Amino acid sequence: MANAMLRELSAESLYEKCMALARNLWWSWQPEVINLFRDLDPIRWRQLDHNPIALLKEFTPERLELRASELVLHSRINYAYRRLKEYLSETPLWGFKHCGVLGSRPVAYFSLEFGVHESVPIYSGGLGVLSGDHVKSAGDLGVPMVAVGLFYRQGYFKQYLDQNGWQMEEYIDIKVENLPLEPALDAAGNPLIVAIETRTGRILAKVWRMRVGRVNVYLLDSDVEGNSPEDRQLTSRLYGGDHRTRIRQELIAGVGGVRALRAMGITPGVYHLNEGHSAFAPLEVIRQYMKDNGYGFYDAFRVVAQQTVFTTHTPVPAGHDRFDPGLVEEHLGPLREELGLSFDQLIGLGRVEPQNHSEPFCMTVLALKLSRRANAVSALHGQTTRRMWAHLWPWRAEEEIPIGHITNGVHIPSWLAWQMQLLYDKHFPPDWRSRMGEPEVWQMIHQVDPGELWETHYALKTQLIAFVRRRLSRQLRRLKASEDEIEEARVALDPAVLTIGFGRRFATYKRPTLILRDLDRLAALVNDPERPIQIIFSGKAHPADYEGKLEVQKIANLRHDPRFRNKIVFIEDYDINVCRHMIQGVDVWLNNPRRPEEASGTSGQKALLNGALNLSILDGWWAEAYDGSNGFAIGRGASHADPAITDARDAQALYEVLEKEVIPLYYERDPDGLPHGWIKRMKNSISSLAWRFSAHRMVANYVLHAYLPAAGGLSCDMGMR
Ligand SMILES: *Cc1c(COP(=O)(O)O)cnc(C)c1O
Repeated sequence: MANAMLRELSAESLYEKCMALARNLWWSWQPEVINLFRDLDPIRWRQLDHNPIALLKEFTPERLELRASELVLHSRINYAYRRLKEYLSETPLWGFKHCGVLGSRPVAYFSLEFGVHESVPIYSGGLGVLSGDHVKSAGDLGVPMVAVGLFYRQGYFKQYLDQNGWQMEEYIDIKVENLPLEPALDAAGNPLIVAIETRTGRILAKVWRMRVGRVNVYLLDSDVEGNSPEDRQLTSRLYGGDHRTRIRQELIAGVGGVRALRAMGITPGVYHLNEGHSAFAPLEVIRQYMKDNGYGFYDAFRVVAQQTVFTTHTPVPAGHDRFDPGLVEEHLGPLREELGLSFDQLIGLGRVEPQNHSEPFCMTVLALKLSRRANAVSALHGQTTRRMWAHLWPWRAEEEIPIGHITNGVHIPSWLAWQMQLLYDKHFPPDWRSRMGEPEVWQMIHQVDPGELWETHYALKTQLIAFVRRRLSRQLRRLKASEDEIEEARVALDPAVLTIGFGRRFATYKRPTLILRDLDRLAALVNDPERPIQIIFSGKAHPADYEGKLEVQKIANLRHDPRFRNKIVFIEDYDINVCRHMIQGVDVWLNNPRRPEEASGTSGQKALLNGALNLSILDGWWAEAYDGSNGFAIGRGASHADPAITDARDAQALYEVLEKEVIPLYYERDPDGLPHGWIKRMKNSISSLAWRFSAHRMVANYVLHAYLPAAGGLSCDMGMR
C-alpha cells in the first residue's frame, strides 16, 4: 500500500514535471527537451503539431511512468526540469548589469502577432516570428520585459491546395486547454477582464498569460460572456475581417493591453510598439498619467512620448493601417473626451497634415507622433523610411529625419539545428551559448574540418528531403492523385543535387515566381545532366490576395510539367515548422524581393546559421550583410522606376548569378568529393554574419539605444544610427 502510494506520488510528480516543462515555451528552444517529448510518442508528436500539452494529455501519469521506465527517461526529465528552474532563477545576466533603471519598471512590448512555436499559431509571418524571437532573446539576456498581444482562437488559416493548385483556407478552433495559456489574474487574484467604452457600446476582453522563458506574454481575447456575439468573434482571426474589425482589434490590444497591465499591478518604464497596430496604447497611458498626476494632455503627452519606442516595418505607403475618421471617433470618442481633445485634435494626431480633411487617420503617423524614438529595421529600410515620412518634418533635411534603424536578428537557439549545435559545441569555446554576440566565437568555424561541416549539412539536407517527400505524398493522397504519382513523390528530390529553398509569405513584392519567368532557361538548369538544381517552395498568400494565390498556383502546377515534376515542389501550409526544416536543410536560400520593399527579412539569417548560403537581392538586411564572399547577390542593388523593368532585369540577374557563380561553385569538387570553395563560403557566411544578425545583438541594441534613454536612464542615445 505505501509502496503503491509512493509509486503513484512519484508518477504524478514525473507527470507534473513534464507538464511544468510543457507550460513554459522555453522548451521550444531546448533540443533535449524537444527530443524528450518526441521520444514519448514520435508519431503522435508529429500528428499533434509538436504540442507537448496535447501529447501529455493522452497519457495518464501511470502510462507516462511506464513509458519513462521503458526508455530510461527519468533522469532526462529530472535534468530538464532542474534546468528550467535554474533558467528561471539565474541572476548573473547581461540584462541585470545593463538594465538597472528598468528593474522595477519593465519594457512593455506590444505586437499584434507572436510567432513562438508552431503549436501556438497566432502569427502569420516574419513580423510575428520577429516578436517571438525578440521576447525570447530579451528573456535570455535578462532584460525586464512583459509582452502584450491578442489571442486568436482560430489563429491564421491553414493552407491547402485544390486540384487546380488554387489556395484554400481552413480555420480550425484551437483548443485553449491544449495551449500553454493560463488566465491572468488581477491584483485581487480574480480572472482579469478589461472593458473599453466605444460610442456604440462596451467591449470586454479577458487576458491570457503565456510564458516564454522569462517573459510573460499577455494575450487579450474578446470571446467573453457579456460581449455581443459579433464582438466575441473580434479576436478570432489574425488579419480576418474588415476595417471595423481591425480597428476594434487594435483598440483591444492597445487600450485594453495598457489597462490589463495596470490591473495586474505592472508599471512599465518603456512602451515598445512593434509596428503601428498598437499605437492606441500611448493614448491610454497618457489618459492614466493625466488622471494620476493632474496633468493636461500636452504635458502628459511629452512624458509618455519620452517613454515610447516605435518600430516601423513597412516600406510601402499602402501597407500602413489607415482608418476613416468616423470609425476612429466611434471607437476612440470616449477616450478622446477624457483626454480633453476635440475631434479634430485627435484625428490630427493620425494625419501628416492635421487640417487636411481628406487625409485618413494613419496608425503609423499616430505612432510616430506619440513616440520620441522611432526606428526602421535595417540600414536601407532606415533610408527608405526617412524619405517616406520626410513630409512629417518638412523643416528638416532628409538625413535629419528622426528615424534611426536597428537591424532585425533571429533567436539563434530556436533556429539552429541541434546537429549544428553539436558541431559548434565541439569546436567553439565551451561558453559559446552565452557569448553568441561575440565575433571571436564564430571565427572558430574556420577551424572545423570541411568534411565534418559538409557531412553535418548533408545529414540535415537528407532530413529535409525526407520531410518534403512525406508532405508531398500526403498532399497528393488528399488530391486523390494516381498511385504512380504518389509513388514518384516518395522519391522526389535528390540529396546530391544543389537544393534551393524559397519560403515566406507570398506577397507580390517578394516575387515568388521571379525564377519562373523564363521556363525554358529554368528547365535547362533543372535538367542539366551534370549540374542540376532543384527547388523547394512554400508560402501562404493572404486570403484576400488574388495575385498572391495566382503565384502559388503557378508554382504548384509545375507538377503537371514533366520537366519539373518532383524537382520543383510546393509544400503546403508554410509555418514555423516548415520554415525550420527548410532553412536547416537547403544549400541555398533564395530571396528576391523588389528593392527596397523588404524592410529586413529574417529567414535568410536563420538559414545562414545552419550553413545555407544566401542568394538574395541587395535589399533589407542583405544590403548590409553581403561582402562578396559570404553568399551571393542578385544584381547590384539598383531598381528602375518601372517595376516591370526592374522585374525583367532582376530575373536576368538571377539566372546569370546561378549559371555563372552558384552552380559552378557548388559542383566544383575536390578528389575527395568536397566542394571546397563552397564550404569556404559557408564558413565565411557563418563567421561574418551569425553574431551580427542574432536577436541577442538586436535586443542589446534596443536596450542601449532605445529602452534606457526612454526610461531616463544612462543616456546612450545615439539616434540609433
Ligand atoms: C522567419 C519566418 C518568416 C520571415 O521570412 P522572410 O523571408 O524574412 O519574409 C516568415 N514566416 C515564417 C513562418 C518564418 O519562420
